[in-house]
Amino acid sequence: MAVLAMTPEVRELREQVRDLMDRLVYPNEPRLDREDDEAEALVKELRAEVRAAGLWAPHIGPEAGGSGRGFVAYAFLNELIGRSAWAPLVFGCQAPDAGNAEILHLYGSSEQRRRWLAPLVAGDVRSFFSMTEPEVSGSDPTGLRTTAVRDGDDWVIDGHKWFSSGAEGAAFGIVMAVTDPAAEPHRRMSQIIVPVTTPGVEIVRAIPVLGHRGRGWSTHCEVRYTGVRVPLANTVGEPGDGFRIAQKRLGPGRIHHVMRWLGQMQRAFELMCAYALGRQAFGGPLAGKQTVQGWVADSAAEIQACRLLTLDAAARIDQGDEARVEISAVKFYAARVLHDVVDRAVQVHGALGLTDQTPLARMYADARAARLYDGPDEVHRMVVSRRVLRAFEQGAVWDFAEGGPR
Ligand SMILES: Cc1cc2nc3c(=O)[nH]c(=O)nc-3n(C[C@H](O)[C@H](O)[C@H](O)COP(=O)(O)OP(=O)(O)OC[C@H]3O[C@@H](n4cnc5c(N)ncnc54)[C@H](O)[C@@H]3O)c2cc1C
Repeated sequence: MAVLAMTPEVRELREQVRDLMDRLVYPNEPRLDREDDEAEALVKELRAEVRAAGLWAPHIGPEAGGSGRGFVAYAFLNELIGRSAWAPLVFGCQAPDAGNAEILHLYGSSEQRRRWLAPLVAGDVRSFFSMTEPEVSGSDPTGLRTTAVRDGDDWVIDGHKWFSSGAEGAAFGIVMAVTDPAAEPHRRMSQIIVPVTTPGVEIVRAIPVLGHRGRGWSTHCEVRYTGVRVPLANTVGEPGDGFRIAQKRLGPGRIHHVMRWLGQMQRAFELMCAYALGRQAFGGPLAGKQTVQGWVADSAAEIQACRLLTLDAAARIDQGDEARVEISAVKFYAARVLHDVVDRAVQVHGALGLTDQTPLARMYADARAARLYDGPDEVHRMVVSRRVLRAFEQGAVWDFAEGGPR
């Protein structure tokens, strides 16, 4: 088990983040929820204050333009930032840009880093990650159909994607495309940077998700690529590296999501406890009912379990481990805990829990999506069980302390 203690420096940074959340984010949530021109302008203003406080882009290190200090430190900060759906945007660490920045930082050429990474981390542009396709299973990306065919010094891309989050208003996407159909399945794909202004890129529509269309960053778009010509130099890493890099991208991306969910869970939990103590029914507060007490206890235990799983996975990543099992385990476990905690909080609030007078209804919709994006629960359980059972097949056991076979 890796070391999970909070350093004095991180404790101090958490106080600063908490202060910014109290001053800048929570009071502005109703205005940001409107997702109009005024909300967009407000995000810019709030970002300036976060930058001035030295807390901008905490997911990535200063060498790439951020204020990051590794995964563990980020987990401690992001569980505070994640409490509000808008705060990641305000702190410059929103998905999918944070994950895209990570790949460009790790695999981008110096030209790609200059042209795409620098403005992305600076918050001057947004990006999207375009992998899932409506016609084939996103859980098994070996079947993806979008192609990129080499023509001289260019790729020519044709394909149909959907759920490209944040594509509306983004400057570029990172597109997963088949570049070598004859290669073995995990060497067929490449990741290619596609500026949205390239002829042939069509953002067809923002797909309403549980009734929410979103705007700009909060959209999930259908995108068509028809004869889209971009230079070979836009390939991230080498041709055929698409899966390897996706694994690298999605690992940290998943754990970033889980860190945010920790914030959502804790906020829902606090709302549930406070409301249960105040609301009276059948001669006493809801908090006096055994069912509600059970929800409080279960939620407390499950939230802390998620925190520890997240911090452990983050520490392993900081130590250079890919932490595949730990990341998959916490991805499906935390998505379920998030869902259950928010669901209990909604139930305790009664009808109020479904209105927009608390953040719970929005959290509930987001929590449902969490069980699907970046791989559905079932696929992550498959990853964990495969690795664990392989150890037993080989005559070993699963050593939880080491996170591997022994
Ligand atoms: C809000 C949201 C945002 C998203 N953002 C992005 C994005 O930015 N970029 C992007 O490329 N994609 C994005 N996605 C897509 C997401 O990653 C896919 O939906 C996901 O990978 C599942 O693919 P699918 O929808 O094609 O489902 P399918 O692969 O068709 O799977 C359907 C269901 O089959 C079941 N299933 C699949 N495999 C197994 C298995 N091995 N065992 C048992 N059951 C199984 C699961 O229950 C699964 O839910 C987003 C999705 C959502 C909901």
